Amino acid sequence: MINRIKEITNRVFEDLKELNEYIYHNPELGYEEHKSSKAHKELLKKYGFQVEEEYLGIKTGFKAYYEGKKPGPKIAYLSEYDALPGIGHGCGHNMLGTTSTGAGIVLKHLIDEIGGTVVVFGTPAEETSGAKVIMVEKNAFDDIDVAMLAHPAASYYKSGTSLALEPIQFTFRGKAAHAAADPEKGINALDAVIMTFNSINALREHILPTARIHGVITEGGKAANIVPELAVAQFYVRATTKAYLNELSEKVKNCAKGAALATGASLEITNYELKYDDLVTNETLSEVYNKSLEIQGIKDYDKTRDSFGSLDMGNVSHVCPAIHPYFGICEDESIPAHTKEFRDATLTDLAYKNMKITINALVNTGVQVITDKELLNRIKEEFNAF
Ligand SMILES: [Zn+2]
Ligand SMILES: [Zn+2]
Repeated sequence: MINRIKEITNRVFEDLKELNEYIYHNPELGYEEHKSSKAHKELLKKYGFQVEEEYLGIKTGFKAYYEGKKPGPKIAYLSEYDALPGIGHGCGHNMLGTTSTGAGIVLKHLIDEIGGTVVVFGTPAEETSGAKVIMVEKNAFDDIDVAMLAHPAASYYKSGTSLALEPIQFTFRGKAAHAAADPEKGINALDAVIMTFNSINALREHILPTARIHGVITEGGKAANIVPELAVAQFYVRATTKAYLNELSEKVKNCAKGAALATGASLEITNYELKYDDLVTNETLSEVYNKSLEIQGIKDYDKTRDSFGSLDMGNVSHVCPAIHPYFGICEDESIPAHTKEFRDATLTDLAYKNMKITINALVNTGVQVITDKELLNRIKEEFNAF
């Protein structure tokens, strides 16, 4: 099968290169990816996919699918195509999206024969308020059997973990007064923010070393002679599991509640961005993917990427079996993502060579899941057990 997959990938590869380059030259920020999503949709339509535009009300999101003649599992590939301010595709989402759409197109060529359905989701704004979170909330993945994407990186990595994340905003409202003439008439909202930071710093002593709490003050008063009536702080709270994140977020919120009680300021607690879940790799699925690399001669995929960042793919991994591996695009493995050097690596021969191998591996994994019932059962058993 792998040789047939390779042959199809080679046949459509010029179209994929063109898509990758077009998106590289037209970088668009999250939820503004009009040209990029259109380019993906047009290519998918060219290869016979049905496309739902503005999927679930998300303007630059889409769902493209092709249903085979025989029933069978639904395989989803997730395309990202948002860029970063200032440096364009510094995270390589031009290539990430092209790899997923490419895998969809190649698998589509086999689906009438093996059965099942292939789905490509266009998922905007991974870098900011990821659309996958909204798609999960609106049940987009309820009928999906496995979900996959592969991210460009300096070298190959196995799918690992990422941290669950809650963005919490504390808004304290006090009472303004002349800070020297009538201080007793004032309620100092800035004091509440400072106490919140101090309490969180005390809490830090007693949290798991893998957790992260970091914040800024976005509003802290207007003038030193006015008691600040409004003060706002924003935090990111991160943990390795959703369960521990919830426990920790509760403690962080109690720090702010204590500060409100102490100062007399009122407190409003909100999420200023979407919450991300931790990434749970389905190891059974991951193993099939890794084997699909191995049979193509890739040996150095063996490191696992456990990220201290957070991914919206995390939310997907809590509702269906998922993997988020990485493939190498850089000659120099010390080049970090979110740089111009990394961006420009997405146009090199090395990147294209590994993109091709990655597409073949994603497709081969999809074929295995569709044709091996026993395998899909094991994938689901593992998913249901966590
Ligand atoms: Zn990024
Ligand atoms: Zn990225």
